Amino acid sequence: MKALVLHEAGRLSIDDIEIEETLGPGDVRIAVHTVGICGSDVHYYTHGRIGNFIVREPMVLGHEASGTVIETGPDVTTLKPGDRVCMEPGVPDLGSRAALLGIYNLDPAVRFWATPPVHGCLRETVVHPARFTFRLPDNVAYDEGALMEPLSVGLQAATKARVRPGDTAVVSGCGTIGLVTALAARAGGCGKVIISDVIGPKLKLAADYGFLPVNLKEENLDEVVKRETDGWGADVVFEASGNDRAVAGVFGPLCPGGTVVFIGMPVEPVALDIVAAQAREARMETVFRYAHRYPRAIALVASGAVDVRPLVTDRYRFEDAVKAFEYAAHPEPRTVKTVIELQ
Ligand SMILES: [Zn+2]
Repeated sequence: MKALVLHEAGRLSIDDIEIEETLGPGDVRIAVHTVGICGSDVHYYTHGRIGNFIVREPMVLGHEASGTVIETGPDVTTLKPGDRVCMEPGVPDLGSRAALLGIYNLDPAVRFWATPPVHGCLRETVVHPARFTFRLPDNVAYDEGALMEPLSVGLQAATKARVRPGDTAVVSGCGTIGLVTALAARAGGCGKVIISDVIGPKLKLAADYGFLPVNLKEENLDEVVKRETDGWGADVVFEASGNDRAVAGVFGPLCPGGTVVFIGMPVEPVALDIVAAQAREARMETVFRYAHRYPRAIALVASGAVDVRPLVTDRYRFEDAVKAFEYAAHPEPRTVKTVIELQ
């Protein structure tokens, strides 16, 4: 089948390759429709590795996907051919200790699309467990289906924050993850969401969503938060930038007794102001992907509580997938999510 294959850092091509995939009793075969390009896909393309995950063999990229079921295994009762679906890209060993504890995203044996050596989904068809394949309601489009993956990260963050109605949240970073976190925080009950970045067009999108944008080139985040909270501080700070300076200052806008959630991934270990955390008795949470957030992400999009469509800023056909990655590696400031359409 045709697939977008990463051979090594910087070398990407659409190849005709054989992928050995048998349809197990609980699996479905899916014709892939739309795939979002994630920062991790771009990083593998530009660097050939993320930390200890190194591309040693040619690997198909892509993990944010929707499609149409074309075949089902004999034990599948929840899906049928023709169903429009989105797919959760990480499949754990369901008998693992982590899975039994309900933290299957932390299963050391999890197989996650486009994480070496596992092939991703930028290809004509994939075989996937029905358990990790979710039907899209009629009013949810394929590109929205592909966005359920990052939105699930946002829901994981808002859930770990234990957002309460009326909370004020700060989101540091206005990329896809920052924006889906802001959307999840608001859907979870935050009354005010303040979002910071240095890129004007992204902050404009945040403002269109009704969030309060803070351009760090022009304003001091701590001062804005003080002004907006009568000097008290934000109940929750979501760190979604991975920027070392943002992490160093993460407790600045936080209220006493507040919560910080770390979502962004700094490339290197970074400094953290422990005394600033202690002075507030801050609760600290971390997020690694998500566990069982897809059904909730779909419910929020279907109900209209979350609109992810404005996040899709750029579209490419699969034939131009290499071009799409070249663009995504050096995007214009207005770009949030680039998607590739296979059908
Ligand atoms: Zn992703």
